[in-house]
Amino acid sequence: MARAADLARANAARIDMVELRADFLDGGELPHLRRFPDMIGTPPILTIRRAAEGGRFRGGEPARRRLIAAAAGGYRYVDLESDVDRSFDEAVPAGVRVIRSLHDTGGVPQPLGRIVRELPRSPAEIAKAAVTPRIGREMVDVIEAARGLGAAGAGRERIVLGMGRFGVPTRILAAHLGNYLTFCSLAARSAAPGHLDPDAMVDLYRFRSIHAGTRVLGVVGTPLSHSRSPQLHNPALAAAAIDAVYVPIELDDLAELDRLARLLPLDGCSVTIPHKSRAARMSDAGETVRRVGACNTLVRTPNGWRGENTDVRGFLAPLRRMVPAPRRAAVVGAGGAARAVAFALRSLGTELLILNRTAERARALALEHGAMAARLDASGLARVPAYSELIVQTTSMGLPDNPGDPLAAYAFRGHEVVYDLVYGEGLTPILQRAREAGCAVIDGRQMLAEQAYEQFRLFTGREFPESARTPPAAPPAATA
Ligand code: NAP
Repeated sequence: MARAADLARANAARIDMVELRADFLDGGELPHLRRFPDMIGTPPILTIRRAAEGGRFRGGEPARRRLIAAAAGGYRYVDLESDVDRSFDEAVPAGVRVIRSLHDTGGVPQPLGRIVRELPRSPAEIAKAAVTPRIGREMVDVIEAARGLGAAGAGRERIVLGMGRFGVPTRILAAHLGNYLTFCSLAARSAAPGHLDPDAMVDLYRFRSIHAGTRVLGVVGTPLSHSRSPQLHNPALAAAAIDAVYVPIELDDLAELDRLARLLPLDGCSVTIPHKSRAARMSDAGETVRRVGACNTLVRTPNGWRGENTDVRGFLAPLRRMVPAPRRAAVVGAGGAARAVAFALRSLGTELLILNRTAERARALALEHGAMAARLDASGLARVPAYSELIVQTTSMGLPDNPGDPLAAYAFRGHEVVYDLVYGEGLTPILQRAREAGCAVIDGRQMLAEQAYEQFRLFTGREFPESARTPPAAPPAATA
């Protein structure tokens, strides 16, 4: 309890309330729960969660009820599950509000709206449903149910949220869902799946200034765990004083985006794996999208979605600072990102060799762009030296979930400029090897930033603020 109180005080600037999950405490502390409210400066919620709802309390219901009866008087709220018997309600003194909760760790029960409406046993209770969307459609179901409950207010207070990675928008957009509060916990000590850190919630997403009319932007795709787009767009929205928030929206089926746009003031989205081709087909596509066959930006218009591709300019901007007009280049990979790269390089007149694990895909892309194609094997690699002025790595290899270096069998000689689209915290294995061999390298984070600058312009009609820009990498040192 002392550690919990220290954490609460250390985070006091970012939180308005503390929930004591007493089921996480050592059993010896349970008789002293009443002391906790005096140890912190914020009004606490007392929760003793049973194992059946994902908690750790295994002491049985009579013991739980006794603990609540002994401690509840010192708390502002007590969380009680929807199925506990009346004796629990009687254990809570007048003046302490009950959060009447339902937890589903396996899915989203239906009809969720009606279930939430029927949770409170009196108008003074706050309904809480924490459910688990397993796919994007279920996340949109949660938002639809919450929105269907109408404006929140006295006697209709509720918390409707999705746990896990699909539920993240329901936590950040609490105001849009009419939620009474949202939960977060420290990244290093996460208390529930999908919790955001208070720093991320308040400093990155500006949770305190989000209201039901705040415009929503986001990145759609799956998986999104390594997307850095929120870290780029939210500080820019803040610096430009735009009343909008940019959230990760994990969707496995892009068709759900239309339903989401009917429920939220959604103005635009970045589109990532695996939806770029589908987005090109479902939108009123700009010329670059039509020619590249991939869309990474959807902007909402009165007639639906307009599709744009900012990867092309995003790719070219850091390249121009290093090699303004490469004569020959090798492109490794033939997926969606390679399509934008091939289009961009051909627009500079660069002759291309496209190498891919699946040779047919390399051949098909090469055919579209008048390029050469090869399989990513020893015979293909033997052709790279003739195209080695610039080597662009566009496969998804190089991240922890797909580790490695697709050109491991190619020895860099030092004159190559090596550009890796994949980005992580530091240099990817291929860029580390290239740098050790004396090559100039371009890191995927630069392209990510540049394509985001253009997206920002498309989303907001404003320039990406200078103060929120990532400084471009220094040009390579001259080599003898
Ligand atoms: P994609 O359409 O799924 O294509 C994946 C490509 O990677 C294909 O060529 C695939 O070859 C190849 N590949 C995957 N695993 C491989 C392995 N183990 N060995 C050899 N080749 C392998 O994906 P994408 O949209 O092109 O994106 C690719 C990467 O670029 C992603 O990591 C993405 O984050 C990054 N990207 C970065 C930016 C940026 O702004 N920096 C922009 C766009 C994309 P097969 O055809 O044989 O399957």
